[in-house]
Amino acid sequence: RFEGITMAPPDPILGVSEAFRADTHEMKLNLGVGAYRTEELQPYVLNVVKKAENLMLERGENKEYLPIEGLAAFNKVTAELLFGADNPVIEQKRVATVQGLSGTGSLRLAAALIERYFPGAKVIISSPTWGNHKNIFNDARVPWSEYCYYDPKTVGLDFDGMISDIKAAPEGSFVLLHGCAHNPTGIDPTPEQWATIADVIEEKNHIPFFDVAYQGFASGSLDEDASSVRLFAARGMELLVAQSYSKNLGLYAERIGAINVLCSSADAATRVKSQLKRLARPMYSNPPVHGARVVANIVGSTALFNEWKEEMEMMAGRIKSVRQKLFDSLSGKDKSGKDWSFILKQIGMFSFTGLNTAQSDNMTSKWHVYMTKDGRISLAGLSSAKCEYLADAIIDSFHN
Ligand code: PMP
Repeated sequence: RFEGITMAPPDPILGVSEAFRADTHEMKLNLGVGAYRTEELQPYVLNVVKKAENLMLERGENKEYLPIEGLAAFNKVTAELLFGADNPVIEQKRVATVQGLSGTGSLRLAAALIERYFPGAKVIISSPTWGNHKNIFNDARVPWSEYCYYDPKTVGLDFDGMISDIKAAPEGSFVLLHGCAHNPTGIDPTPEQWATIADVIEEKNHIPFFDVAYQGFASGSLDEDASSVRLFAARGMELLVAQSYSKNLGLYAERIGAINVLCSSADAATRVKSQLKRLARPMYSNPPVHGARVVANIVGSTALFNEWKEEMEMMAGRIKSVRQKLFDSLSGKDKSGKDWSFILKQIGMFSFTGLNTAQSDNMTSKWHVYMTKDGRISLAGLSSAKCEYLADAIIDSFHN
């Protein structure tokens, strides 16, 4: 009876890691998945995470089920981290926060909420965006379409295209926005542009839906990276925010994140939370506890929180330094006069190189550099020792 099932295609991002593992070349480089690596290209567990885990062991915490909405101490700190602890929306209890299965699971829960309570409403997503967004809305049966975002001519933001597409979307659409460090382009709107985006969304009665997967990882500052969300919240808008601790705390496999729904009253927030729980219960019943405790312990302790910020700055700093080194290598080696400065303008973990599919294929087949076919490379997987090699590969692939 399973005979009739056809082969599913490999995942465009996680499939890259599988191919990388099978390659035996000594210069091979995995720039596909967005996971932080040390200069030695090894996975990194934050010291502050190890400290929190030791504390948890000492306390001998149990493994009882969490409530459907997750760990209360986690939900409290995650909303505070996002909006700022002194944000009036917190005191007014207007935020419904439910612990999710990291960013992906939180987005999926929000998609289920949209499907159930906003039937027919459309989500508009940036072109391009993180590949899984489309899968999430497809599987949740939420209609979506794309708005202009990336301008290949400038390797920058197509701001006019973005604004006119948001204006053209049916009233009351959900506008999916990357809170910071847009994936895959690394191109974010400026504060002035964010204000205009908020104007248009308000005008059209749209609902902003933020995906915040890199708070603290883009600029190195947790507050600065949340400023887009806070700007919208300060205008009194209702909005959704999916959060992830995969990158900023390196908790990839712990699946820890949250969905926050900012409502216009405390009463509405209570009702929304009850419905989020109702949606979660038949999907996965209740979320895992380990990552939630790690986050709650770190954010809830001044000493650990400060240490986390230092480690995050270190990680963000390493990425910025390889970004600079890659730019220097490309500018020094490339004799074609091509302007590589777009690399320095992008922020976060990724760089969108502008390499097309065939050129990205050349990177892998000839140079053993593994990356997604859209031309995105994860700088978090690059060491300064390999910048020159990568620059050779990029220049060769561009000019072939
Ligand atoms: N959104 C974006 C834009 C991402 O880049 C990622 C991670 N690649 C996620 C969400 C979710 O990741 P996770 O489920 O590991 O939190």
